[in-house]
Amino acid sequence: MAEPLDKALAERRFDTVLIANRGEIAARIQHACRELGLKTVAICSEADRQASYGKTADSFLCIGPSNAARSYLNQDAILLAAHLTGAGAIHPGYGFLSENAAFSDAVEKAGLVFIGPEASSIATMGDKISAKRAMIAAGVPCVPGPDTSLPDDLASIERIAQEIGYPVIIKAAGGGGGRGMRVVPEADGLHEAIALTREEARQAFGSPALYMEKFLEHPRHIEIQVLCDTHGNAIWLGHRDCSMQRRHQKVVEEAPAPGISSEAIKAVGTVCVEACRQIRYRGVGTFEFLYENGSFYFIEMNTRLQVEHPVTEMTSGIDIAQAQIQVAQGVPLETSQDDVTCTGHSFECRINAEDPDSFLPSVGTITDLALPEGPGIRVDTHIHAGYRVSPYYDSLIAKLIVHAPTRTEAMARMREALAVTRIEGISTNLPLLRALFEDESFARGETDIHYLEQWLQHRRAA
Ligand code: ADP
Repeated sequence: MAEPLDKALAERRFDTVLIANRGEIAARIQHACRELGLKTVAICSEADRQASYGKTADSFLCIGPSNAARSYLNQDAILLAAHLTGAGAIHPGYGFLSENAAFSDAVEKAGLVFIGPEASSIATMGDKISAKRAMIAAGVPCVPGPDTSLPDDLASIERIAQEIGYPVIIKAAGGGGGRGMRVVPEADGLHEAIALTREEARQAFGSPALYMEKFLEHPRHIEIQVLCDTHGNAIWLGHRDCSMQRRHQKVVEEAPAPGISSEAIKAVGTVCVEACRQIRYRGVGTFEFLYENGSFYFIEMNTRLQVEHPVTEMTSGIDIAQAQIQVAQGVPLETSQDDVTCTGHSFECRINAEDPDSFLPSVGTITDLALPEGPGIRVDTHIHAGYRVSPYYDSLIAKLIVHAPTRTEAMARMREALAVTRIEGISTNLPLLRALFEDESFARGETDIHYLEQWLQHRRAA
């Protein structure tokens, strides 16, 4: 086994974890901690005082008002809560402060363990241009286009677009969550698209830096989950297909991605872990690729636990949330690449509190609910009858996950699970998910990242 990268880090241990998040992921991380024998601190905003995971945590603190900027994003309040409760580590979950390099740094400077990668890795991957540069250097295939930000003068930008070839996509270097991107089908729209995206980037991400790459017309979104310890070990845990997206937001995910040869996946997985070793990455991470005509093109790396991690847990049998905590404690990975065997097929449906037609968020009290149970069925959620869905946060209220020996059986299991799920008192996207699992093209695995939007358009027109 390789020498520890950082002996001081390898020796750090903690027995209490503050979970700096809310909702289903706060509940999920709490389970992982408890199974590892760790104590937990739950935090909440005023809107989340009734959270069920607050009752099962060892400590539960309200750290601020409902507005996330003053609670879940308030770094000082979170650090103070850790101090008051004696927490030795902070788990950021996803969203909120999970990919905030300054927060990771502040946590470490306060003498606590940040359950995630080093601040420098977060900063490199958080800027899509520096991420692309690091990946090219590590031999990871990227979408055609320069690994530098666009210059100011329009004539040079035009030349870059011509070299790449239309259609192109302009992206904000600091973009995320599907925002800060604009497709330019032909030269005509270039100037306007640059001006609009630059302004959006400046306002939403605090930096006007943009870059350009080829817009792939019919790709699938395929991702590779990696897990790295502080001793130089890195493994990849199979792959996921997250092509079912609406407005660049994932709706249904599955593992493995159908119809891609195991040789092709192995080649890209091997490149990903090699890249992790080169950049001395620690913790869990996801390499996101677009996949078109048999080739993979890196688009970004997420340096946190992802919403869709359960489909990989179901197929690989590895508890990714627990492994993430253990590697943060400096524990060497027990599993080697040869031990990773993915079996069967898993789907995840994101159940959102939203109108199934207009997609407007739905708020209110859940008056009654029935969740599916049985072999190969998992529900990650924090909701219960009487739970009030507030308007302040993301509309994700539950994740329905199934696992079965084959993709066909997993689809049937999901159909049945969706059929028996009932959430009363608010609107959800359940009708849409049910209809999607009846779709024949989806059943055949013939989809790309535009499929769901097109399918929704046909539905509206019918
Ligand atoms: P974000 O960080 O906002 O999630 P990503 O770079 O991961 O942004 O891209 C989100 C989605 O946008 C992808 O899953 C894909 O659907 C689409 N996309 C991004 N880059 C391209 C591209 N070069 N060609 C086609 N679609 C793209």
